[in-house]
Amino acid sequence: MSAFRDRYSFPALVRHAISGHKRWKPAIRHPEPKPRYDAIVVGGGGHGLATAYYLAKLHGLTNVAVLERGWIGGGNTGRNTTIVRSNYLLEPNAHFYEHSLKLWEGLSADLNFNVMFSQRSVINTCHTPGEMEATMRRYNALRLYGIDAEFLDRAALARRVPDMNLGRDARWPILGALSQPRGGVARHDAVAWGFARGADNRGVDIIQNCEVTGFQRGADGRVTGVLTTRGPIASDKVGVAVAGHSGHVMGLAGMRLPIESHLLQAFVSEPVKPFLDVVVSTGALHFYISQTDKGEVLLGGGLDGYNSYGQRGTMPNIHEVTAAAIEMFPNISRLKWMRQWAGVMDMTMDGSPIIGKTPIPGLFFDGGWCYGGFKATPASGWCFAHTIATGEPHPLNAAFTLDRFGRSAVIDEKGAGPYPKAH
Ligand SMILES: Cc1cc2nc3c(=O)[nH]c(=O)nc-3n(C[C@H](O)[C@H](O)[C@H](O)COP(=O)(O)OP(=O)(O)OC[C@H]3O[C@@H](n4cnc5c(N)ncnc54)[C@H](O)[C@@H]3O)c2cc1C
Repeated sequence: MSAFRDRYSFPALVRHAISGHKRWKPAIRHPEPKPRYDAIVVGGGGHGLATAYYLAKLHGLTNVAVLERGWIGGGNTGRNTTIVRSNYLLEPNAHFYEHSLKLWEGLSADLNFNVMFSQRSVINTCHTPGEMEATMRRYNALRLYGIDAEFLDRAALARRVPDMNLGRDARWPILGALSQPRGGVARHDAVAWGFARGADNRGVDIIQNCEVTGFQRGADGRVTGVLTTRGPIASDKVGVAVAGHSGHVMGLAGMRLPIESHLLQAFVSEPVKPFLDVVVSTGALHFYISQTDKGEVLLGGGLDGYNSYGQRGTMPNIHEVTAAAIEMFPNISRLKWMRQWAGVMDMTMDGSPIIGKTPIPGLFFDGGWCYGGFKATPASGWCFAHTIATGEPHPLNAAFTLDRFGRSAVIDEKGAGPYPKAH
């Protein structure tokens, strides 16, 4: 195990300031791949890196490699709108995401890396009597699970979010809202870097520019390693966490997944003075808005609606999301959009993820994160590491099996049916 280098602290900052900040060691190593590892994780996004971190930290597996075809955090981890919450209705989701939220609450201290987790409240607005009833049901379920939740009437909402258009004559009048005060946002790059540094410090090899192009199999069909652009690498345990590329990579092992790849966009405005200190999202209008620490207004919405691996979005979606956001926040109508981007989303048929074993011995899969994978990052890594290390799922991910679709045991949070675009 490599020595812990440069523990970040106030005394370290002072010490390095005296030497002109020239002696900081690199946060991670850039090793050459070894011929064999005890476990390989494919995908250097937040989930793959968190998996490696918890494999080393909690299960003592340090002869581990993370193989990333580009650079760490360059996928959806570095492209999302960073909303973290655990206010889910269905039990498997609620307990899993609440575990994740608890890990988020201690993550900066655990990683010795500031992931800038800001618990500023996530507020979901309701626009119809039906939505009010469904939201009240979710509120009651959350209270029963012991998860924090508040129901805000219009007066409370006006106090909490003064710039929100609460006019009765609005196109989609707001009737009330569900708030999760412990929800919030985090710095997405820092999550990837923090987990990478924590894993590297424990001896994990993080190998970038190394694409997995195939799987090696034994005579009995068991996975014995991977083929990569930097040569073959042997291991009896391979975990795949490649988000939007799940269908392609698992296809290399001959598996067809109940997952489609879709585009999801986000965009930010020019920076303005602080006016919004909560995250607001609306299911009826389908957009979510927050203000970044730099002052930019950050917006996201629904999928573009067609299958793609392109990391660019199209104009109609930008138009639709902007129009809806201006309706609710008229004060942003004259802002200029500064940047726009998209990520490739791994959409399952019921909107919930898959974390577990596959029918191929030695091959494990983590994916199908739909809109919700960033908030899941710590718990996903935690559960996937447990599954890879022990060969069995943890109770928290026991329901997220691949075979649930064949057993009609779907976890359909939205009740939208088998339509990945609708979740
Ligand atoms: C615009 C947008 C907004 C979002 N907003 C939110 C939000 O507010 N809250 C939330 O919880 N979630 C949100 N998400 C979802 C969230 O970002 C993802 O679910 C999560 O980041 C997925 O993390 P990951 O590690 O699984 O995937 P990624 O970060 O995509 O990592 C997968 C990695 O695998 C690598 N890879 C692919 N193929 C190979 C190969 N053959 N060999 C080696 N490596 C390979 C990729 O290069 C990539 O780096 C959003 C996503 C987008 C795009």
